[in-house]
Amino acid sequence: PNQHLDVTTFISSQPHRGKTALVDAVTGRCLSFSELWLGVKRVAACLYSLGVRKRDVVIILSPNSILYPVVSLAVMSLGAVITTANPISTSGEIANQLHDSLPVLAFTTCQLVSKLAAAASASKLPVVLMDENNGVEAQAEGVKIVGSLELMMESEPSESRAKQRVNQDDTAALLYSSGTTGKSKGVMITHRNLIALVQTYRLRFGLEQRTVCTIPMCHVFSFGGFATSLIALGWTTMVLPKFEMSKLLSAVETHRPTHLTLVPPMVVAMVNGAKEINSKYDVSSLHTVVAGGAPLSREVIEKFVKNYPNVKVLQGYGLTETTAIVATMFTKEETERYGSSGLLSPNVEAKIVDPDTGRLLGVDQTGELWLRSPTVMKGYYKNEEATAETIDSEGWLKTGDLCYIDCEGFVFVVDRLKELIKCNGYQVAPAELEALLLAHPEIDDAAVIPIPDEKAGQYPMAYIVRKAGSNLSESEIMGFVAKQVSRYKKIRKVVFLGSIPKNPSGKILRRELKKLTTSKL
Ligand code: ATP
Repeated sequence: PNQHLDVTTFISSQPHRGKTALVDAVTGRCLSFSELWLGVKRVAACLYSLGVRKRDVVIILSPNSILYPVVSLAVMSLGAVITTANPISTSGEIANQLHDSLPVLAFTTCQLVSKLAAAASASKLPVVLMDENNGVEAQAEGVKIVGSLELMMESEPSESRAKQRVNQDDTAALLYSSGTTGKSKGVMITHRNLIALVQTYRLRFGLEQRTVCTIPMCHVFSFGGFATSLIALGWTTMVLPKFEMSKLLSAVETHRPTHLTLVPPMVVAMVNGAKEINSKYDVSSLHTVVAGGAPLSREVIEKFVKNYPNVKVLQGYGLTETTAIVATMFTKEETERYGSSGLLSPNVEAKIVDPDTGRLLGVDQTGELWLRSPTVMKGYYKNEEATAETIDSEGWLKTGDLCYIDCEGFVFVVDRLKELIKCNGYQVAPAELEALLLAHPEIDDAAVIPIPDEKAGQYPMAYIVRKAGSNLSESEIMGFVAKQVSRYKKIRKVVFLGSIPKNPSGKILRRELKKLTTSKL
């Protein structure tokens, strides 16, 4: 492989010129592949004129838009680094990201500029507005408006820029992990990582399909897919600013996509609304739904298959640290292996390691999943200690996920190591108990967390959302679980809630529940 091939040169070398690359599903505005790459070239030239150079960080804080990939690709084409901020983050969270990544420039929208300004405090961060300026200067004290993306897209580059050589191991994107288990970390994704991801997508999903992007592009799952790989593969992507079921379904009916990429809560919404959806909307163009980012329960997959018999629902497994997808289901038959996250991608090596002894484990044995692949991150930004703890000297990434791999190579994610409950020297996986609880006909949702105990160390306790009208009691729930598990896994306390706190991709926010428990004990 060419050491100096940067991801944008690689992606743009694919021949899809005349076709439509991106469609704004709300306004109908389209960008062909030719317009997309012309825009990238022009924006890159403007950024260069504004002083952006190799290794400089540029932040983007924006809902999904057809211009999101243009900005990201323009930044990466200069050898600079794009970092993506989540529009639903608070100013405090964005301030942490600014403090960590020290961007030289920001792209944002009129609606989000005041949030960015509050995060930037008095630093006068130079900002390019991604939409028409409707008089934001006055309210944006922490930032300085230096340009408009629309004007950049139309500009004729005057200054010829010196081509800066990019090495494949240079950082292309700095993506922050979801922060489910602790503070969000800056993950350095290289040009090599993104090029390798294109190969995964090519093998798994093929060329030139139609899809709708509704997952925030700031997240690796969407950034690696919609903003890079699918452009390389000539897909047409209809972009929605954010997830709204009715808008998604209208987009499906109008634009007739073949694929949808969703996170589990969106799949659940499709299942719950199936009757109405099937009677009100024409979703017959769909043949594949890929769901990733968090576990999808067997019950939901079964219901999905029943309600949408012509659509295969494929689970995908990945981490920010692996540039998203490393394992996926592929065929309808694979999908029926409920509980599995699929087969590893061909360019991924895996082993299962006993987290206590470091011993290599075999087929069907549960331990920590270690991965080695050209999609594994370079490391955590400015955090050598955390990098050394996560990637060993031979390049193996410790995923922190407790998994097993069966004799045919299917990966099963059991739980996250950090979330195991240690009870009398035994380890209890909350996910196992949650799956049992969710199978109860009167339980809508459940989360299991540890409760401290002087003698046992920890015991499992459950937060439960009952189905409407149910009077299920604490002792009935504890009895229901006790009948099915070993003694040490029994649930010792139940608290009823209206809903379980989750992040947007559907991961249970156990730290919030732990806070709640401490305040209740
Ligand atoms: P942080 O590392 O900051 O706590 P995070 O790990 O939630 O945040 P991500 O990189 O977005 O941030 O999530 C990766 C994790 O998501 C994986 O390690 C795994 O635990 C979980 N995950 C992803 N896909 C699946 C899946 N299909 N099934 C089960 N778990 C999944």
